[in-house]
Amino acid sequence: MTELLGQTLDELSETLRPFDVPPYRARQLYHEIYKRRNYAVGAMTELPKSLRAALRERWTVTSLEVTSVFQSSDGTRRYLFRASDGVQIEAVWIPEADRDTICLSTQAGCPLACQFCMTGVLGWRRNLTAGEIIAQVGALLNDQYGVGRPPARGVNLVLMGMGEPLLNYVQVMKAIRLLCDSQGMGISQRRITLSTAGVVPGIDDLAKEPVRPELAISLSATTNALRDRLIPLNKRWPLEELLAACRRYPLRRREWLTFEYVMLDGVNDSDEEADQLVHLLRGLRAKVNLIPYNPSPELPFRSSPMNRVLGFQARVRARGVPAFIRMPRGRDIDAACGQLAARAEASRR
Ligand code: SAH
Repeated sequence: MTELLGQTLDELSETLRPFDVPPYRARQLYHEIYKRRNYAVGAMTELPKSLRAALRERWTVTSLEVTSVFQSSDGTRRYLFRASDGVQIEAVWIPEADRDTICLSTQAGCPLACQFCMTGVLGWRRNLTAGEIIAQVGALLNDQYGVGRPPARGVNLVLMGMGEPLLNYVQVMKAIRLLCDSQGMGISQRRITLSTAGVVPGIDDLAKEPVRPELAISLSATTNALRDRLIPLNKRWPLEELLAACRRYPLRRREWLTFEYVMLDGVNDSDEEADQLVHLLRGLRAKVNLIPYNPSPELPFRSSPMNRVLGFQARVRARGVPAFIRMPRGRDIDAACGQLAARAEASRR
């Protein structure tokens, strides 16, 4: 079965060509799958019955299937999906005071092997397709609002689930363009944040995109010695190169770079490191998100105590860099940052 979700309007027109239908049928199909999030060809009543039947022989909207949903006491929900080839991925629905945030995966597993991250521990499967990335958003919105219903309040997307988005550049950007199309899902590009561990050529490519998400960089260390150890990708693109790419990145009006900093007890949380962080970010329009570490029994790290996180934050702020603490959400269901690792797959083995 080939998937319709992830196809542009031109590609859908191409798909419909053998069926010999008028051109507006492609626009109707586009409207059904992106605007209405209708993932059942049989239920697309705008399309003639004969076309639906013919389509269903070889095409499906998406084969990504929700296999489990875990509900946290704080309202967060973690969704486990299975793709047609059996790989499993996860996405998270995070309700907040004035909006909802969806945390998406861009790869099944991750090749980066960051020492503190569970996805890294489970290793690498494959890149997701644009359709599989969009299907996560569609499935969560449909679960919340129902097929065909627009979201009742703002939705933010963060590409911070499993995987390194800039190592799946083409499919990630295709998904973003489709998500942002006002004729389709209609999500604002300024409501999407892409988080990278520091793929420098990807950052330079992103700079040239007419439609692009906000950019967040997972820094988590202020020296190459420590960053090499925590985030092995640093050996390929060390801090100087990463920060140079950030300095030449063309920020839009009211746009800030976000630097994420996972707070690891006794590893990267000293006052000296707070000072060094400020030093590294000098001259950048940047803010810092401090993420208290979400521990996993498989990994040797602990979170910095809250008074240390607060002390670090105060020190960074006092030196003129805005710093925020990202409160953990969904810890009770393993939905928090760095915990998305498709444990079902791990336990099946
Ligand atoms: N590969 C991308 C996106 C996925 S990770 C990146 O590295 O940015 C999303 C964020 O979660 C990163 O900032 C990462 O450092 C952080 N993270 C990973 N494991 C974590 C954990 N156990 N606790 C808290 N944050 C974690």
